Amino acid sequence: MPAYTSRTVYRPVQLTPLANDAKAIGTDFQRYLSYHLGRFQGCAPFYTYEALAYTLRDRLMVDWRNTWDTQLQPGSRRAYYLSLEFLIGRAMGNHLLNLGIKNETDQAMLELSERLEEIADQEPDAGLGNGGLGRLAACFMDSCATLQLPVMGYGLRYEYGMFRQHIDNGYQVEEPDRWLRNGNPWEIERSEYCQRVHFGGRSEHYRDGLGNQRARWVDTQDVLAVPFDMPISGYRNKTVNTLRLWKAAATDEFNLGEFNAGSYTEAVGAKNSAEHISMVLYPNDSSENGKELRLRQQYFLASASIQDAMRVWERHEARDYRDFAAENVFQMNDTHPTIAVAELMRILMDEKGLNWEQSWSITTRCMAYTNHTLLPEALEKWPLGLFERLLPRILEIIYEINARFLRQVSLKWPGDIERQKRMSIIEEGSQRHVRMAWLAIVGSFSVNGVAALHSQLLRDGLFHDFYQLWPEKFNNKTNGVTPRRWVAYANPGLTALISETIGDSWVADLSQLERLKPYAEPHHEAFHARWREVKFANKQRLAALVKAECDVDFDPTALFDVQVKRIHEYKRQLLNVLHVIHLYLRIKNGRMDNWTNRCVLIGGKAAPGYVMAKRIIKLVNNVAAVVNSDPDVNGRLKLAFLPNYRVSSMEIIAPATDLSEQISTAGKEASGTGNMKFMMNGAVTIGTYDGANIEIMDAVGAENFFLFGLKADEVDAMGRDYHPWRYVSQDNDLHDVLMLLRSGHFNPYEPYIFDMILDALQSPHDPWKTLADFRSYVDAQEHVSLAWQDQVRWTRMSILNTASSGFFSTDRTMREYNREIWKLKPGAM
Ligand SMILES: *Cc1c(COP(=O)(O)O)cnc(C)c1O
Repeated sequence: MPAYTSRTVYRPVQLTPLANDAKAIGTDFQRYLSYHLGRFQGCAPFYTYEALAYTLRDRLMVDWRNTWDTQLQPGSRRAYYLSLEFLIGRAMGNHLLNLGIKNETDQAMLELSERLEEIADQEPDAGLGNGGLGRLAACFMDSCATLQLPVMGYGLRYEYGMFRQHIDNGYQVEEPDRWLRNGNPWEIERSEYCQRVHFGGRSEHYRDGLGNQRARWVDTQDVLAVPFDMPISGYRNKTVNTLRLWKAAATDEFNLGEFNAGSYTEAVGAKNSAEHISMVLYPNDSSENGKELRLRQQYFLASASIQDAMRVWERHEARDYRDFAAENVFQMNDTHPTIAVAELMRILMDEKGLNWEQSWSITTRCMAYTNHTLLPEALEKWPLGLFERLLPRILEIIYEINARFLRQVSLKWPGDIERQKRMSIIEEGSQRHVRMAWLAIVGSFSVNGVAALHSQLLRDGLFHDFYQLWPEKFNNKTNGVTPRRWVAYANPGLTALISETIGDSWVADLSQLERLKPYAEPHHEAFHARWREVKFANKQRLAALVKAECDVDFDPTALFDVQVKRIHEYKRQLLNVLHVIHLYLRIKNGRMDNWTNRCVLIGGKAAPGYVMAKRIIKLVNNVAAVVNSDPDVNGRLKLAFLPNYRVSSMEIIAPATDLSEQISTAGKEASGTGNMKFMMNGAVTIGTYDGANIEIMDAVGAENFFLFGLKADEVDAMGRDYHPWRYVSQDNDLHDVLMLLRSGHFNPYEPYIFDMILDALQSPHDPWKTLADFRSYVDAQEHVSLAWQDQVRWTRMSILNTASSGFFSTDRTMREYNREIWKLKPGAM
């Protein structure tokens, strides 16, 4: 490891920025390809990508260094975004857009007889996340750089990202995603800043020289955390922020001890077990799995990141830790990293020598927590035994936090034992657990939900006791998505049309899209025609993808009806399939009145252990096989399941979608962000009154949104009084759909495989109340079909959706986080 002292001072560097003309880019590209990589034109295409990535990374380097220097001025406040997931996707196109050198690069490649598009297509997705939560973190990073906010992301550098999904006989098959196999040209390893993370051992109490009672964590097994930095470029503003991802590595002494005992090979084996920590992303979305390795990952991230933030802050002379909270804030993305609360306490007390009160005051001014779900299966709880064995000193601190907290509760509500039990960070029972969300709330100064409804449900429900105690902590921050990736990069046709019409300032100020509203009126015929042309071309591009991946022919003149997201019962892909079967039956029965041709696309990954979700994928594929091959259907209805849904596929899907399916059971989808990507790209939503759908409908107007289904309070009130058979007996269409499914029509060679789905739908205990919403969903879909037949009306709705989507930019979300939680000064480069 290179020598490094914590007092190393950065000196200003005088670097000449590189030229950005096509000639310079082409020369650098060729130099990287031939002189650095030792490959020559005509080589395997990955190397042309790698050479171009280095060429572009060079062009970020001076701004990256300058951003770092500017943000580290003494007295300047910084935020750290702690997340176990960053679902980044590809970087090349995004940096080209942000640097504003796409045309020059295009030209440089053309002159070398290379095609930029083909080169960029070589980049593997950085799939370090499951779904919305991880993608949100990536969009946040983009907006912080664009707003010039001093925010650094901390995450894990998983060797294996989100698994690749294959479909075999209609079933999901998972394949490991070794995205780093050929290296990652964007990252820079910074071994000189590695950190040591403790596990195991025991805690020892002693008196220090001044007679103070102190603790230390001894006999630990340590793992090294090695940082790898990824550049996060802002939009044309010379700002490049940092995403720092930790890789686990064995310490040298650990091996040496074993080596001296004569067991060299065991020593090398131990190295392996240390490195396991950052080996693989857990592929569960909205559910916890309670594995020991997962807790190790969480502590590893929290500990390495907090130590690193402290190291950076200590670089300036004469630091007094009582000032730490004034200059540092940590935003915890869900409960996954919230062990950071106890870790910061440990470091302040055991390593910096502060007392409890000082440390608690600092910690509770530094920490902020974002909740992402109300689903009970997603609330993290760790068994005390596991905690005790893995992190004994941390558990001790959590006990003390809890004891002091419960004293506060009993002062406010004397004698209310039930409330104390409910609020205790330690859950009692046959097996005792640490409730991570409770630890996060107690240790944070801010607790936020991710859409207005979700934040309200937190205050009224799950977190009600805490809300009564600390109403001032609770706030809402409605999610967003970055318009750079999701419109400017993913939809160049629409981008050109919008910019020609209202100028291009909307890319960095999405509220400007409002100015498109007048063009929604039908007398702007030329604009309407262009709008439809752009959508049509995007639909051709998606149709080609569907043809290549699914061998299904999508006709771009049909309505493209799309639901892509993780497969989960609460997201109700089943409701969508029931509707497709209903349409199929209408064709078979000749009920073709007011028919609209539809291409229905469904995509998403199921957690490998989630049996029901995997069976839903099988159902989609089997229904697709029957519908697509039935000559009676004759192209009026298509269904396809798109395998391996990921960021780079959404970049093709969202611009091509007419109808966005956001049909979760009300009260269950905290926000959703797929809904926002579709809206920005001019899709109209069919959706329940859930999550950010509500705010989308408010923004665009109810007349431009297809609302259906029960409200959250109605779902709740139904609770134990749900009788699915009533819906079946009162609705012939629903009855016929379920009968056809039960008959084995879609699974003649695999009898009964869908019975588990039918049983779940028809169970009075179905938490997702799918059948209760069937009729209103089918009716809303009928309104969609009619609206589509009036293409002028549809185009107007489409334009209004884009024009009303300004609020859903993460630029707005980040401004709110900054104004109300982080309070950072935007820097100017
Ligand atoms: C946006 C996005 C999501 C989140 O979609 P929801 O519909 O909000 O669940 C998940 N995965 C990918 C790849 C995305 O781009």
